[in-house]
Amino acid sequence: MRHIPRKRFGQHFLVDQNIIAQIVDGISPKALDHMVEIGPGLGALTKPLLRHVDAMTVVEIDRDLVAHWKAHPQLQVIDADVLKVDFSKITRAQLALKNTAILDAEAAHLRIVGNLPYNISTPILFHLMSFAPLVMDQHFMLQKEVIDRMVAQPATADYGRLSVMLQWRYAMQNFLAVPPSSFDPPPRVQSAMVRMLPYAQPLPLNRQLFEELVKVAFSQRRKLLRHTLGRWLEERRFSGEFDVQRRAEEVPVAAFVALAQSLTQEKS
Ligand code: SAM
Repeated sequence: MRHIPRKRFGQHFLVDQNIIAQIVDGISPKALDHMVEIGPGLGALTKPLLRHVDAMTVVEIDRDLVAHWKAHPQLQVIDADVLKVDFSKITRAQLALKNTAILDAEAAHLRIVGNLPYNISTPILFHLMSFAPLVMDQHFMLQKEVIDRMVAQPATADYGRLSVMLQWRYAMQNFLAVPPSSFDPPPRVQSAMVRMLPYAQPLPLNRQLFEELVKVAFSQRRKLLRHTLGRWLEERRFSGEFDVQRRAEEVPVAAFVALAQSLTQEKS
């Protein structure tokens, strides 16, 4: 189909067949998989995925592309902004397309994929976190710099809010480097593919409180935590143990999670 890429929808279409083959290989799709693609675009990933899976759901915001895909017999098309999509509803709707034999499958069965629009990639990741219990895995093309931050370890320049928030919920791996020349039009940045596997039993915590805590901790990353998180903990009359004589970037994810958990317990 003829289509002029729309900048406002972050449209950089994959055209490198070798990279596309490596991505599909990395996803390893199976016939009865419950695949959901965010932003099918012109189908660079959709078409090769459909050679492996019986049916899939796609979420697309661009009306022209939606009209094109609606005619496809294997696709359930959700004509919407992905940030407004309730992924728990997709689960129920998509099951109708499938062989009933998989109705008994365990809850975490959605396989979410996409070459994401980079301008809203972080909000998409946070939106999807709410549906993590339904998700088997996620494979996304993102700006390499964002993936570096997602997988960063403590005491590195990339370690920050994104690393802590996502590493609490997912095991993550950068599995493929993708140069700008693999897209049309080429983006100005380097890209990569990330694999995200939700933990089956993440340590339970109040996510809103955790988000606030991590935000405060990294608000002035060069300063010792006593100037930021220390004050915030005092305001909450926190009576437990937490070393604030260090910088946020030195604190492992598990220590932030433990702090959020003890705050939740103190509150209740
Ligand atoms: N999957 C195609 C590919 O790899 O060539 C297209 C990828 S392109 C980077 C991003 C896709 O996401 C486009 O199809 C775009 O229209 C769609 N998109 C952008 N913003 C969206 C949103 N908020 N909700 C749903 N889809 C969106």
